[in-house]
Amino acid sequence: MKYVDEFRDKAIAKKLAAEIAGEADPGRQYNLMEFCGGHTHAIFRYGVQDLMPDNVDFVHGPGCPVCVLPIPRIDNAIELATQGAIVCTYGDMMRVPASRKNSLIKAKAAGSDIRMVYSTQDALKIARDNPDREVVFFAIGFETTTPPTAVAIKAAFAEKLANFTVFCNHVLTPAAIQHILQSPELRALGQVQIDGFYGPSHVSSIIGSAPYDYFAEEFQKPVVIAGFEPLDVMQSTLMLIRQINRGRFEVQNQYTRVVTPEGNEKAQAIVREVFELRRSFEWRGLGEVPYSALKIKEEFAGFDAERRFALTKSTGKDVKGCECPAILRGVKKPTDCTLFGTVCTPDNPQGSCMVSSEGSCAAYWSYGRFRLDIAKGKAGEAAE
Ligand code: SF4
Repeated sequence: MKYVDEFRDKAIAKKLAAEIAGEADPGRQYNLMEFCGGHTHAIFRYGVQDLMPDNVDFVHGPGCPVCVLPIPRIDNAIELATQGAIVCTYGDMMRVPASRKNSLIKAKAAGSDIRMVYSTQDALKIARDNPDREVVFFAIGFETTTPPTAVAIKAAFAEKLANFTVFCNHVLTPAAIQHILQSPELRALGQVQIDGFYGPSHVSSIIGSAPYDYFAEEFQKPVVIAGFEPLDVMQSTLMLIRQINRGRFEVQNQYTRVVTPEGNEKAQAIVREVFELRRSFEWRGLGEVPYSALKIKEEFAGFDAERRFALTKSTGKDVKGCECPAILRGVKKPTDCTLFGTVCTPDNPQGSCMVSSEGSCAAYWSYGRFRLDIAKGKAGEAAE
């Protein structure tokens, strides 16, 4: 298949692996953070880590949109449904644990009207078909999913669709990367030891490569915007290592078949029309991050669920022992969590990182790389 097979070519992968091994300085460590969960899954699905020298480590960042949403926001979505609204959201969101072991799918099983949709247009249709009910679209995601939400709000505005609102949880990538690099708490703990970043693929197709220029310069860290196929990740690794070795900190674009410097200007314009920056937003794992999320502009206030409904401030916390917050900050790996593969599996997720198809724990588990170790551990325990 064009644009797929040529980016999974074994011979080229071997050649790239040899080039990376030749370029990586054995006297130093390379900690490279992939911001996007799609990269994490490519790394584990295709065994890219196994092709790297020992001193090249992939650090998984907060790039899974479902994973970074804090529990109180999920509690609020459930609260809206239990108050009688039809709550619509994307499939990945349904199983993410909320507080008190609840989730949207459990609330649905208990009788709330919560519906999985494939697009914002599905949510609009539900609102049109149910004029006597409040319909709330639980909007989540990075810059990639924001334009369709803006389109839906504009459509509802044009149609005067009075029973449709959006519970907006759209977050921004550059602000999160910047937060990771400048967080005084993390610096004090010596936890920020990232040498370079893989820029996200889909997000960058919308925002372009230019927004990364600031922090590459400010924090002197190289960024390579990388595609999702294994050879994309490997080529980007080589580009990052070369920059690090030469003391450079530039934004390079490996994913030129999709990403341009300016991005999708039409999508950016519609987002600017409907949304504005929030002063602060809580991320799971990162805490409050200034100017890292969007809210609906005053002009469209009638379609803002947070203005129409009184929402309770929940204090829900992650399950005891769940390391999702530390994993999302890039300071722990899924295998550092004692619940990984024992209590917590995709069939019985205890934290957000095991639910989403972009979550790090799901990536570690799904391709079977760590199951054998865990099975051996259990067998050993039974024998003792
Ligand atoms: S394995 Fe489960 S409990 Fe542990 S960090 Fe991942 S999602 Fe949380």
